[in-house]
Amino acid sequence: MRALILGGTGDANQLADALACEKIDAIYSYAGRTQIPLGHSLPMRIGGFGGAAGLADFLLKERITHVIDATHPFAVEMSRHAVEACTLTGVPLVALERAPWTRMDGDNWIEVTDINAAVAVLPERRARVFLAIGRQHIAPFAAKPQHAYMLRFVDAPDRELPLPDAEIIVSRGPFTLQSDRELMRGRGIEWLVARNSGGYGARAKIDAARELGLPVIMIARPALPERKRVESVEAALAWLGHEARLGA
Ligand code: NAP
Repeated sequence: MRALILGGTGDANQLADALACEKIDAIYSYAGRTQIPLGHSLPMRIGGFGGAAGLADFLLKERITHVIDATHPFAVEMSRHAVEACTLTGVPLVALERAPWTRMDGDNWIEVTDINAAVAVLPERRARVFLAIGRQHIAPFAAKPQHAYMLRFVDAPDRELPLPDAEIIVSRGPFTLQSDRELMRGRGIEWLVARNSGGYGARAKIDAARELGLPVIMIARPALPERKRVESVEAALAWLGHEARLGA
């Protein structure tokens, strides 16, 4: 067996450690978006494959027998390419993907389908907005330049943001309810814009918004092609064991 983890998330890192612990031969792949990827005990490669065809070549060249797509649920391109490349090569694929968050009592969510809809929902009057989305999705918010935005990134941005009033906090999660509540209260945040990532690492801000009584513009996950899904590292390991027995 030789597994490929498509990574870049906390879950992918936990899975990497679990595979290393079980002495399963595996490679961890990063897109290379952050300057210092978090360390774990697997050999890694960094950078795109060159589309689905490039990934298919990689799978064959590296003799990959199993692919685990543990990318972020909003990393749509990579996930689509994984489905396509695994279909082309016949390599079994599973997605390690946490269930999306669901509304709890006290939540004030406005659910939208995409970034442009999120921009449209923001009020016209100036407000203090915590924009908890990836840096590559910020440009549409330039259509509402009147707001004071707060953004949080793993690395400092390497170019100016298209928002006239933006505070950038450089910090790497996971975050706690207490620290996110203090951060949001301290900055006088009135709106939170978030993507429905699911899982634990990113949910502190959602819980903090509920406690502070703030409206949350929640962007739904994009649609992905049909693929096998598991929700935990343990289930991904079990899938690998099961697939290996089938292949034996
Ligand atoms: P994306 O739009 O789906 O991917 C764009 C391209 O980047 C892919 O087509 C692929 O290039 C390359 N790529 C993405 N993930 C890769 C990986 N793990 N290994 C090798 N190449 C990869 O993805 P994204 O939204 O830019 O996210 C990039 C990475 O950041 C992902 O690995 C994801 O897990 C992580 N991340 C994303 C978010 C988010 O909010 N989207 C949040 C946390 C972490 P080629 O076509 O050339 O192969």
